[in-house]
Amino acid sequence: MLRRCLCVWVAFSVLSVAAQAATIIHAGRVIDGRNDEPRGKTSIVVEDGRITKLVDGFMAPQAGDKVISLADHTVMPGLMDMHTHLQSQHSKDSYTERFFMDQADYALRSTVYARKTLMAGFTTVRDLGDNGVNSIALRKAINEGWVIGPRIYTSGKSIATTGGHADPTNSLRGDYKRDPGPLEGVINGPDDARKAVRQRYKDGADLIKITATGGVLSLATNGQNPQFTNEELKAIVETAHDYGMIVAVHAHGTEGMKRAVLAGVDSIEHGTFMTDEIIGLMKQRGTYFVPTNLAGEWVAEQAKKPGYFPEVVRPKAASMGPVIKDTFRKAHAAGVKIAFGTDTGVSPHGENAREFELMVEGGMPPMKAIQSATLVASQLLKIEDKLGTLEPQKLADIVAVKGNPLTDIKAMHDVVFVMKEGVVFKSP
Ligand SMILES: [Zn+2]
Repeated sequence: MLRRCLCVWVAFSVLSVAAQAATIIHAGRVIDGRNDEPRGKTSIVVEDGRITKLVDGFMAPQAGDKVISLADHTVMPGLMDMHTHLQSQHSKDSYTERFFMDQADYALRSTVYARKTLMAGFTTVRDLGDNGVNSIALRKAINEGWVIGPRIYTSGKSIATTGGHADPTNSLRGDYKRDPGPLEGVINGPDDARKAVRQRYKDGADLIKITATGGVLSLATNGQNPQFTNEELKAIVETAHDYGMIVAVHAHGTEGMKRAVLAGVDSIEHGTFMTDEIIGLMKQRGTYFVPTNLAGEWVAEQAKKPGYFPEVVRPKAASMGPVIKDTFRKAHAAGVKIAFGTDTGVSPHGENAREFELMVEGGMPPMKAIQSATLVASQLLKIEDKLGTLEPQKLADIVAVKGNPLTDIKAMHDVVFVMKEGVVFKSP
């Protein structure tokens, strides 16, 4: 393990020293994120962390240039997962670990998950909910080069209402059941809502996440009830947009989802009981759908294991998990904008690519599934000017898989090359 770490750092320093020379990737097949047809043999030229040009065929290097041969591979933009939780990974012990884990424990463990995520080809993620500080510290550690991981856009702690899906004191015994407020992301009324958004801005969050309806894994009976009033939603969306932050919304139930879409949020996460009416509203308003098929599949599987979930969670997991796939199929067929997201942290880190298979099973062509994790994700994050496609001037986030994912989507599990901003982290 240590030796592998050193290799990455050696590669980093070599690249830093030789910043003037170009790196030329000889790619056998290229999915550029923009075009629906792949390119054949292509040279991708990378200089100073950016792509400078794509040239047909395998270009000969100039003196000092470095060539990376990926002639038997499919090369594509760094993948982006729009729904992860790098702080945790669900297990039977998840409900009790908070009593035994310090912030430092969470922080150190999340570096392991971050590394796995990057090595699986995901060079950018949205982190949609932690205990308040972890993902912001992790983002800094990665940006500073202290640890290895994806580029993180984080919401910090999700915003909920009292007793709602992200109220951190749900189901605790009386003397632990405090009355958390906007500082901890629990609001009641529009003033609280505005304060909670501004607090996240102050804390360093990039975006806002709210839990608009009940959820599967929280210790509460209802997984679908609407949990914010229209006035609260309006206050959140207006304040977030004023501060330049997008709003991602956890939603399973119909009423809470509809209210959120009408309030002008940017993305609906899970979207389990999405109706045709909501699909129509999302298309009209350009709301993105982040389906998290993988979380639906994973919770439904665990629900079959006796005693895995607390009894308040198990029936929700069993009944709601399988619905997401049908919703995905419907939303895709209707033409809703779909950005790739897995809710990884529910399922194990590093297995994000399973979502591609589920999307293809749900009727999405492999090329569109890959675009949802590249171009479309960059549009949701409003960073299309620097990421999401392999085009000149974009940051050199480039990954490669063995084989051809357009004919066998399972190839997405086999990421053998990872470059982030021109630095190679994994090589065949
Ligand atoms: Zn989530």
